[in-house]
Order: sequence, then C-alpha cells, then structure tokens
Amino acid sequence: MTITDALRADFPVLERHVDGAPLVYLDNAATTLKPRAVIDAVTRYYSEVSANIHRGKHILSEEASDAYEAARTRVAAFVGARANEVVFTAGTTMGLNLVADGLDLARDTLAVVSPDAHHSMQLPLRDRCAVAWLPTRPDGDVDLDGYAALLARRPAVVALTHCSNVTGRYAPVAELAAMAHEHGALVVVDAAQSVPHRRIRMADLGADALAFSAHKMLGPTGIGVLVLGPALVDRLRPALVGGGTVDWVDLTGSVPRRSPFRFEAGTPHIAGAYGLLAAVDYLERLGMAEVAAHDALLAGVLAAEVAKRDYLTEVAGAGSTERSAITSVTVRGAGDLTEFARALSDSYGVMCRSGHLCAQPYVDAQAGGQVLRVSAYLYNTADEIRAAFTALDELHPLLE
Ligand code: PLP
Repeated sequence: MTITDALRADFPVLERHVDGAPLVYLDNAATTLKPRAVIDAVTRYYSEVSANIHRGKHILSEEASDAYEAARTRVAAFVGARANEVVFTAGTTMGLNLVADGLDLARDTLAVVSPDAHHSMQLPLRDRCAVAWLPTRPDGDVDLDGYAALLARRPAVVALTHCSNVTGRYAPVAELAAMAHEHGALVVVDAAQSVPHRRIRMADLGADALAFSAHKMLGPTGIGVLVLGPALVDRLRPALVGGGTVDWVDLTGSVPRRSPFRFEAGTPHIAGAYGLLAAVDYLERLGMAEVAAHDALLAGVLAAEVAKRDYLTEVAGAGSTERSAITSVTVRGAGDLTEFARALSDSYGVMCRSGHLCAQPYVDAQAGGQVLRVSAYLYNTADEIRAAFTALDELHPLLE
C-alpha cells in the first residue's frame, strides 16, 4: 500500500460534509481518525469474544488473552523492545504519571524537563520534585553548555519531549539521553507525537521509559503504551496494585508478578488492544518510511503556507530543524483564536485547534497564551492544507 488518495476511503469520518463542504480534519495532534480496520477490530472483540483476559480458562478468555498478548508482542516489535517491557496504560498521560510516581523521587531531587513539555509530562514531576527547564539558545537549539551545567547538578531524571505538540519540532533525544546517562540520570521520553509518524527504536533513542497513545496513531482512545527499558523494568514501583499484579496473596503479604503484569492492575482496555494491534498492522502495511515521507512533505507544505502570510507568525520552537506536520501560529490583530477555530469549522469544515495546547507555560512565553494549531496525518493532502489557509485568508479580515 502507498499513501495515495485511495487510502482516504479507509477512514469513514472523511466521508462527512459540513454544510455541503467536505470535512478537512487537521487536528491530528489531538487525535487521529480511525481506519475501518481498527473500528472492525474493536467491534470484533465486543461482538465475537467479549471475555476477560488472563484469568479464565475457557475458550473465549483464552482467545482474548492471546489477542491481548499478540498486541503487546506486535507493539514491542514496532518500537524495538521486548514484550515484557511493554506496559499497556490508558495513554501517554498515565504512562508518564506511572513513571513519576514509581520512581519515588525525593522532594529535593532534580528533574530536567523540556521547555515545551506537555502538562502530562511536566506536572507529574513538578508535583514530586524540583524541576529545571532544559535551556535553549535564542535560535531555538538546545543550549548544550547550559544542559551540561544542569547535568553536573546530578538530576535523577531528564524528561524529554521527542516531538513538540506545539511546534512539531524534534528534540535531539539520542544526544541528550547519552549526556544524561553519563551523569547517571534516567531518561523519560514523551513520544506521543513521534511514534505515530516515524520509526522509533528504543535503543536508538536511549530512552529508559517511552510513553505514547494509541489514539494518536490510528488506534482507539483509552489505551496507550509505556515502554520500560532495562534500567526501569524491574526497578519502577507499580503505582497501582490489585487483580492481575500478583502471583500469590496470603494474610501476611503478596508476591508481585513480573513485568509487564505487575504494572497492569485490574481489567485492562482489551478492545483497545485489539484496535491498537490493527492500527500497528495498518501502519506497518503502509511502511513507516512512507508515513514519515508523507509527514515531511506535509510539514513542508505547512511551513510554506505560513511563510506566505505576513499576518501569521509561527511559534518557531526549540529543537532540531527536523519537524513533523504540526504548526502553531499567532494571528495578527486577532482577539480570541477560539473564534477562528470555530469559524474555520463551522463555515469551512476545517477542524483545527486553538488555545494553549496543554503546554501553557510554553505557549504563554512564546505566543502570549494562545495559538492556532494545524496538524496533519497520513490521510491529509497538500490541497487540504492549502484550502485551510485560504479559508484563514478569508476569515482574517472579518475577525481582526
Ligand atoms: N504528550 C504530548 C506531546 C501530547 O501531544 C499529548 C496529547 O495531546 C499527551 C502527552 C497526552 O496524551 P494523552 O491525552 O493521550 O494521554
């Protein structure tokens, strides 16, 4: 399969129209649309299996357990990890919270955090320890000398956004992780916006923990992945305990199961695992190289469209020049950008996002508190992006 217009037929939401205009979905950094294969896989679980996993010995339970574990094995291969290192969570937010909680950080420990960190990465750490922001230079690149000076203070954790949900810029994670390890820090990577778009291998990144969400990569909401590398898989304290996490319980105590089961308390999102497996299959059939090439093409179109308009200013962002098809802009003379997003949706059928994008300290500092974000994925075309910007041209004089 290649990325062509034919692929769009797999996504039923793309058949929708808004007031007669075809729907243009450009809010993919928030969540992606689901192909029929994913919808069918979730439906298949509920209509044909519907049983709980791991505990029953009947046919339906065994079928569900096998599918759930097959999803784990498939995801592990997808990111170059071992199956026992792949913990299913509810999403990136839960994965990052599990890490911050399970490290049992002392209040006076230091964590170094990306300046563009999503609230889901910064808040669990800020709640538990001291945080210093990864310094950047005026051109947006990481200030490596400033970073080295922070590492000399022996932080316990370096928490890095792989790809910013505000700017689409990639951070040089492998280089930063290598430096962190030289100083004994653990490296946690928020990969919510990178795993959907390019081939990620745990070993290449040097991450000790990597979190991402199925719903940003064609899969269902409510399921995500926390990959724990060798430094953490046996060390992290499970934040939740209960059914499924123990091998033995008596009145004096309990014996925890091995990873990943010790981290998955209670009945998980089994249908979500069916859907995630179908999503990974879909991406692998396309080929992540194709997905990444299309992402780069659309990133180029986004940048070119923004550059053509003097009333738009892009949030340039930190990190390398590599970027994903996400851009956030401020609009000259605009009051509330939510009005723009609403008018784009209601009058033109263009769905995009406005506000602080759950990276409020960063958007406050870089853009005065609000941006308009356009983010594309594999079913978007260059023409759709151009149409969205033409709609903005029409709206801008009206909403100035
Ligand atoms: N991190 C980044 C970079 C994100 O873009 C998001 C989602 O917007 C999250 C974390 C949180 O993901 P979820 O809501 O799926 O837990």
